[in-house]
Amino acid sequence: MTAKQFDVIVVGAGFAGLYLLHRLRALGLQTRVFEAGSDVGGTWFWNRYPGARCDIESLEYSYQFSDALQQEWEWSERYATQPEILRYINHVADRFDLRRDIALNTRVAAAHFDASRSRWAVTTQAGDAYQAKYVVMATGCLSSANLPDFPGLQRFTGDWYHTGHWPHEPVDFAGKRVAVIGTGSSGIQSIPVIAEQAAALTVFQRTPNFSVPAHNGPLDPERVADIKANYRRFREANRQTAFHADFRYNAANATEVSAQERQREYEARWDRGGLPFMAAFADLVFDEQANESAAEFIRGKIHEIVEDPETAELLSPRSMVGCKRLCVDSHYYATYNRANVRLVDVSQHGIKAITPTGLETELEAFAFDVIVFATGFDAMTGALMSIDIRGRLGETLQQAWAEGPKTYLGLAIAGFPNLFTVTGPGSPSVLTNMLPTIEHHVEWITDCINYVEQKGLASIDATADAQEAWVAHVNDVAESSLYPRGNSWYLGANIPGKPRVFMPYLGFPPYADKCKAVADNGYQGFALSG
Ligand code: FAD
Ligand code: NAP
Repeated sequence: MTAKQFDVIVVGAGFAGLYLLHRLRALGLQTRVFEAGSDVGGTWFWNRYPGARCDIESLEYSYQFSDALQQEWEWSERYATQPEILRYINHVADRFDLRRDIALNTRVAAAHFDASRSRWAVTTQAGDAYQAKYVVMATGCLSSANLPDFPGLQRFTGDWYHTGHWPHEPVDFAGKRVAVIGTGSSGIQSIPVIAEQAAALTVFQRTPNFSVPAHNGPLDPERVADIKANYRRFREANRQTAFHADFRYNAANATEVSAQERQREYEARWDRGGLPFMAAFADLVFDEQANESAAEFIRGKIHEIVEDPETAELLSPRSMVGCKRLCVDSHYYATYNRANVRLVDVSQHGIKAITPTGLETELEAFAFDVIVFATGFDAMTGALMSIDIRGRLGETLQQAWAEGPKTYLGLAIAGFPNLFTVTGPGSPSVLTNMLPTIEHHVEWITDCINYVEQKGLASIDATADAQEAWVAHVNDVAESSLYPRGNSWYLGANIPGKPRVFMPYLGFPPYADKCKAVADNGYQGFALSG
């Protein structure tokens, strides 16, 4: 059977895959998108758990490549819900007529580079074969769900769900005894909503997380009209902060102002809500003492909100604020004041097994009708490493990344020509509002492909030297901050056996400047061959 030929194969139909298709088509390139899910949407297709919504304000967590699109779409809330974001993605797929080039229910199992022909051979899990000159992995950095290997899960007689693989039908918690395992962003968003519905909710917490209130609500039409009238300026302000146009970076250091000034600033940010809390002081992620002042402030708030002092203490993190993405919640801490909610600390005595009727820790046995795993993802590398990717010399990605992921600019991998990654390790990725970062990567990658095509070249491959230098730079920048000191998924610490490497790159505007300089200099750090 002869393999079907394309110019470009894109893997994944989330925000990244859809925009890639739109751009590649505009270049006249025959493009095929393969998506494992049964519809488009990526993160927002899979994570349908109750309470799921964005932590970046809707007007910024949206595409900006089309002014018509950003003018016509109306967001209803400050932080859009998952169903609203999914409706938006579907609107984009229809508006730009993208569906006809997307193969759904199609998981890519392998991609092997044939150096003699400078083409990728791509095989799906169903065994279908395709070839393309370029492959773009738009596989998502939080798309490979982590289900811990608890013994006994197959014998559980109740229902169980992972937040990252939530069913399409509504889950009815009414009258049920429910367990939630995990208190990261997914747990923190879902727990308050599940608590309102369930007869009893038990939360199993291994590590508490810092969370700030979203203060979510309907969008003010006047503010929306104002932003829409100046959308370009608004987006540029967002780009400068990497998170929010209205981030209000404070240039002062927490360690250099009075205790009253620190309190005033933290209070103001708490009242406003959301991720701009992290911009309260310039030294928050660089100085331990500064970070501790923010941590102390949030712990104080937890003790103010949670009535039972023991529960409040258990919920109070001792880690660094922001060492893993700060959570943005709606009534999370107050949920522990409900009579039907119990917090169980599994930091010292972990979950031993799932039993047919519930689960047991080293101290106690519990009975449940439903277990919710809010246990996160094999982040940044998981989706890529589960594909059998082989480069120029037949080396697998697993071999190339045995000591941890290495990329050039988070966009390319030395030895894997004509292959690109979106928001992979070495990209600012999860340390930003991801939509502008995705758009940036997509535009850079498609410009690069266009350059290779216009020059009539066969391939482009990051050099090992450029890659080494970039990896060293990513590490140096990370080391200048407190980030690597946290025990987070940014470092791969949540997956047993995963090499500990700080994966995202800290600093969006400088990153975009560096990418531009590389392109302007004829793709410096890449080997181009004819
Ligand atoms: P994804 O949306 O993850 O899409 C990747 C797609 O690739 C998936 O549909 C997957 O099925 C498919 N795929 C993977 N491997 C294969 C394969 N081998 N074959 C075929 N298909 C494959 N970021 C923010 O900036 N703000 C937020 O508020 C925010 N909220 C989030 C909430 C949740 C619950 C999660 C999990 C993440 C959140 N993120 C947020 C990060 C979010 O992942 C990105 O913002 C963005 O949606 C990623 O888009 P993407 O297209 O790069 O990847
Ligand atoms: P996560 O932050 O990795 O949290 C997973 C939770 O499960 C942690 O509390 C973890 O505890 C716990 N856990 C894992 N294995 C366990 C085990 N064996 N026993 C007990 N507990 C266990 O994952 P997430 O909450 O899905 O969030 C991942 C990222 O996705 C976020 O950081 C964010 O970037 C993004 N996200 C964003 C939003 C949003 O607000 N828009 C919502 C959801 C997700 P430990 O910490 O001890 O490992």
